[in-house]
Amino acid sequence: MSNFKNTETALIHGGISIDEHTGAVNIPIYQTSTYKQDGLGKMRGYEYSRTGNPTREALEALIRDLEGGYAGFAFGSGMAALTAVLSLLHSGDRVLISSNVYGGTFRLLSKVFNHFDFTYTIADTADLDVYESQITDDVKAVIIESPANPLMTVTDIAAVAEVSHRHGLLVIVDNTFMTPYLQKPIALGADIVVHSATKYLGGHSDVVSGLAVVSTPELAEKIAFIQNSTGGVLGPFDSFLLIRGIKTLAVRMDRHVENAEKAALFLEEHKAVKNVYYPGLPTSQGYEVNKKQAKNGGAMISFELHENYDIRTFFESLELVSLAESLGGVESLVCHPATMTHASIPADIRKKVGITDGLIRLSVGIENIDDILSDIAQAIEKAEVK
Ligand SMILES: *Cc1c(COP(=O)(O)O)cnc(C)c1O
Repeated sequence: MSNFKNTETALIHGGISIDEHTGAVNIPIYQTSTYKQDGLGKMRGYEYSRTGNPTREALEALIRDLEGGYAGFAFGSGMAALTAVLSLLHSGDRVLISSNVYGGTFRLLSKVFNHFDFTYTIADTADLDVYESQITDDVKAVIIESPANPLMTVTDIAAVAEVSHRHGLLVIVDNTFMTPYLQKPIALGADIVVHSATKYLGGHSDVVSGLAVVSTPELAEKIAFIQNSTGGVLGPFDSFLLIRGIKTLAVRMDRHVENAEKAALFLEEHKAVKNVYYPGLPTSQGYEVNKKQAKNGGAMISFELHENYDIRTFFESLELVSLAESLGGVESLVCHPATMTHASIPADIRKKVGITDGLIRLSVGIENIDDILSDIAQAIEKAEVK
């Protein structure tokens, strides 16, 4: 593990940051599938790129250092990372998930892993007594997102980890929304951290990728075996892009958050807005817990317009901010969780957990904040049903 105590420095110098053969200050793209062996059983450390590739390894060492874990692993997407991690479990096992878990995670459990008699329960990670009562004998793991998508529900990671460990559960945290610059789940008690690195870590909406970091040698050995066996690895070029993106994470995040804090206040004061969900607002549900476990509230905001605003017109009137899936890129994006990111969650469950048809999710980019807010303001104005 690297010795960089400040994340800003580790982002640039963590992992394997210099090519040992040439001194290149960027790890080259080792675009190769295989490696010449010097004789039978005489390998130079690599044999086949599904098993190991130097560019991917530099990225894996970097995310290990950033999350403060024992080992890192890079995958072709966030879902591939989650699939590998959930492959630690067996048929008959059950996993607890919070109600606001990412739609794709819900789909993976409810439509794929259910074929293997490996199932899930939606848990109340916000109420520890209720949560503990949901830990039946077959429960082997919990997946936490904090803040969780799309209502930015905050879970006390240390508290849930403590209760979960008392029952021998594996604690998995999806840290996509916060990144290790804002929140370090392993230090809070998580066993495994997963990322959709497609989002803030990549940061430029140009690469789909996933990462996992484990806290122990035993878990590292198992995930390495699963990664090589199931094969959902990240390619060398995408690994390079991700390393490149991660170097600027701190400066990007600082601007994302500065803009998001202004956007949240703007929305909170706007007469057309009914609710704002942002853990950086002192009035929000998880403000205190989030403040305790994360550097700030991040840059994802959800909000609802009053009934006399037509959200279809709102989305179609935006000029700068794009309507798109995904988040965490330099450009501001909005999405409609009910029909986009969370469409794979049945309507009744959506309604129960508060993902209403009027909910809008905003990924605040790093453009000039006045430009972002004036675009949103003019779209809201057009959306008013007179
Ligand atoms: C996007 C996302 C995922 C899935 O990652 P992909 O890279 O799209 O496969 C998982 N969790 C969260 C919180 C996400 O936002």
